[in-house]
Amino acid sequence: MAQLFQNFIGGAWADGSSGKVIKSANPANREDIIGEFPASTKDDASRAIVAANGARKNWAGTSSLARGQFLIKAAAHLQSKSEDYAQAITRECGKSIIESRGEVGRAIALLQYYGVEGMNPVGSVVPSVNPNILLYTNRVPLGVVALVTPWNFPLAIPIWKMAPALVYGNTIVLKPASATPHLGALIARMWEAVDLPKGVFNLVTGSGGEVGNELITNPGVNAISFTGSSKVGHGIAIESARRNIRYQLEMGGKNPVIVLPDADLEQAAEITVSGAMKYSGQKCTATSRAIVVGGILEDFTSMVVDRVNKLKLGPGSDPASIVVPVIDEASRQNVVSAVKRGQEDGGIVLTGGGVPSGNGFDKGTFVQPAVLSKVRPDAFIACEEIFGPVLTIIPARDADEAIEIANSVPYGLSAGIFTRNLNSSLDFANRIEAGIVKVNGETAGVEPQVPFGGMKASSSGSREQGKAAIEFFTETKTIYVDRSRT
Ligand code: NDP
Repeated sequence: MAQLFQNFIGGAWADGSSGKVIKSANPANREDIIGEFPASTKDDASRAIVAANGARKNWAGTSSLARGQFLIKAAAHLQSKSEDYAQAITRECGKSIIESRGEVGRAIALLQYYGVEGMNPVGSVVPSVNPNILLYTNRVPLGVVALVTPWNFPLAIPIWKMAPALVYGNTIVLKPASATPHLGALIARMWEAVDLPKGVFNLVTGSGGEVGNELITNPGVNAISFTGSSKVGHGIAIESARRNIRYQLEMGGKNPVIVLPDADLEQAAEITVSGAMKYSGQKCTATSRAIVVGGILEDFTSMVVDRVNKLKLGPGSDPASIVVPVIDEASRQNVVSAVKRGQEDGGIVLTGGGVPSGNGFDKGTFVQPAVLSKVRPDAFIACEEIFGPVLTIIPARDADEAIEIANSVPYGLSAGIFTRNLNSSLDFANRIEAGIVKVNGETAGVEPQVPFGGMKASSSGSREQGKAAIEFFTETKTIYVDRSRT
């Protein structure tokens, strides 16, 4: 019998009111059921919003230093249970255990960073034209913030939203992805373990259509921070604009690397493959296009294919696995059909794109990592996010054409260039339409103390993480105090 989990509302564990459940399964072995979680209703979501509103005044009135201490304690809690959390991530979203440990480490760093942030100034004193006026700015919380999060970083993404949300004085309702509700429950346990005041953090599991929709439309929510698909993100933008509430969207990417003829080709091939294939390309910052300039095309391509063919495909619980199962069957079908379509559009499949069998592969949603060469820049597979282990190699005449191709898609999250030339690097950094720019580095892999986010269709523009997070999670007040008659 699978373990039955509950929602966490107002500091107490509660059953969902529908009595129905969603089951979470291990992508490496779909028979391994992690647990059953409430398929909550809009009433459950609404109760969580009421609880978050009830806790709002006291939490906003708590000093930010004291709020920060809860985050520091949560970081210590996570540290003490880090291996349990890492194993849980691998089991629920399929990620390699090495990368899951990295994700836990990142969540700890985020909690520590924003814990300390509670001691930092949030406003400034500004000279007034009137010497009797004390003129200063302050930042105040937004109120109740809904966090709607995806399955691919089931710990780090909720934490990088909630750590700043909490330290700046907001209360929250989290709806995790239906594929990874267990990590949502483990996050709730973390806050319970550090005695976060009741109602400050609330968890409601259930579908996007029911729970997510209530969080977006309920007037008790003051802001929404979302990571996921462009389609859902656009719906949130429209509804938020209608209600004039603040929204933050992190959506997809179609992240390019440009390889110039003077690059260290071994390094370029190694990093490109790592960016494209680790975690089976299921990162919004994963590399999906290698735009290769001039006569190095054949050499670079064969270096990439050699490396991809050596990658171990297997369950994330095996530390040697680099390519792991994709999240579910729909995702696998999406990868297989995208590769077929890439071929129909004139691309050459050099390796992968099939479904492996035997050797335990039949139990999970594995797909062989694919490399396609000579792909047209406007082909579907070169423009649409596939969210799987698929790399397209696109030839370009020169650096100018390569940048044009890189910028030709609607997305603009992360982009890289491989070159030894300083001018080419800086020219690329200036002209590329991407929120994250790497020179001789992987498009995936970012540090938590700096802003994260994309341009164009990848994001709503406001940045997450680092100092930038305060812009979303607070409002500025400008205060004039005339002391002439006091
Ligand atoms: P979704 O956008 O469908 O899901 C993200 C979150 O939004 C989940 O919690 C989901 O709930 C919720 N949601 C779904 N529909 C609604 C709705 N109508 N109202 C409110 N919330 C909703 O993304 P998926 O996880 O299904 O992934 C689909 C694609 O999105 C991927 O293939 C990839 O292209 C992209 N993606 C991008 C990510 C990124 O980091 N930028 C991360 C993950 C995905 P539920 O799980 O219950 O459906």
